[in-house]
Amino acid sequence: MANKTAFQARFREAMREAVRKFLAEEELPEPAAGEALFTVIEDLALDAGDAVSLEVFDQRLAQLPPEPATCPHCGADGQRVRQRDRTLTTRRGLDVPLAEQQCYCPGCRRAFFPSLQGTRAGRRLSLQPGGDEEGRPLRRPRE
Ligand SMILES: [Zn+2]
Repeated sequence: MANKTAFQARFREAMREAVRKFLAEEELPEPAAGEALFTVIEDLALDAGDAVSLEVFDQRLAQLPPEPATCPHCGADGQRVRQRDRTLTTRRGLDVPLAEQQCYCPGCRRAFFPSLQGTRAGRRLSLQPGGDEEGRPLRRPRE
């Protein structure tokens, strides 16, 4: 399992190559009247950072296994009833769409969201394939 620093170095190298290839094939947009070329480059760089961040979230969130549907009140297995879409704001300030499972406990007659109980939305998401940030393997989805 790769450690975080080595993974980040490889990811940065992959991004460097992708940017080099893209910039070799594309011309920068013309600056507007009175706009500095630096501003054009800065805007492109900021947009590129956001685009890469959103792509990482999009690809990694889709692979997260579902949280167990365990009732937070009685501990019984709940029923998965539907998904709701919500938006998560990252530490960078990006809004990331997130599909969240709503569950229902017949015993307690209450709805609950396992991802909120398990703090999935609050825990740091791993960029590393196949494991979390401590290197533990991700749980397989229960089907
Ligand atoms: Zn319950």
